[in-house]
Amino acid sequence: MNSEKRRKRKEKREEKMTISENLEKFNKELPDDVKLVAVSKTKPVSDLMEAYNAGQRIFGENKIQEMEAKWQEMPKDIQWHMIGHVQRNKVKYMAPFVSLIHAVDSLKLLKEINKEAEKNERNIDCLLQIKIAEEDSKFGMDKTDAAKLLASDEIKKLRNVKIIGLMGMATFTDDEKQISEEFQKLEKIYNEFKIQSREFGTEFRILSMGMSGDYKIAIQNGSNMVRVGSAIFGERNYN
Ligand SMILES: *Cc1c(COP(=O)(O)O)cnc(C)c1O
Repeated sequence: MNSEKRRKRKEKREEKMTISENLEKFNKELPDDVKLVAVSKTKPVSDLMEAYNAGQRIFGENKIQEMEAKWQEMPKDIQWHMIGHVQRNKVKYMAPFVSLIHAVDSLKLLKEINKEAEKNERNIDCLLQIKIAEEDSKFGMDKTDAAKLLASDEIKKLRNVKIIGLMGMATFTDDEKQISEEFQKLEKIYNEFKIQSREFGTEFRILSMGMSGDYKIAIQNGSNMVRVGSAIFGERNYN
């Protein structure tokens, strides 16, 4: 690398804000009723500790075993959120400590969470993931199936899980109008279910939507929980 390039790269590095500065910016910017989940997947414990020392207490991970390892190492007043797709055979690893599971998409999975929660004498809060993006790759239920699940007799038997809201991901696109429409759709479903939620034996209070690229649009459309990773911790390196 020639010296000019090296100098430029150094400048770029120095411009970069630290994790605690990023958090400070978010804490100033987010409305009081919007919770910030710091998405720390792939990041080392030292990065998470920097966020912790800046006051952050909610962390989101998308791999159960990675989350468990971090939970072992880190202070115990952290709330750990599982934001990724959940494999049933791994629920047992997080059941002793997880505080919110964002991406529940079937009764089968809920039953497994309930079973493991019971073993640990805990209640585990969950969100149903609703598919709002047009891409096929995104997980989630449609509204009809979610409504059926919420109203089912079987769910009433699950005493150690509680569905307290919904989660969704918008299409990965620069088209803000499309993103906004997808979030609006989810907000509408959320509000409908919220009204009915007492009948379902629960109380809806969390609408988890918005990531680094679209959290502002999400908040405009009623989100009260944003899941922000790269805008706090920097780009992820998956190697
Ligand atoms: C990785 C991830 C995020 C955070 O993504 P960023 O773009 O880095 O903010 C949010 N939600 C889910 C479900 C994720 O997997």
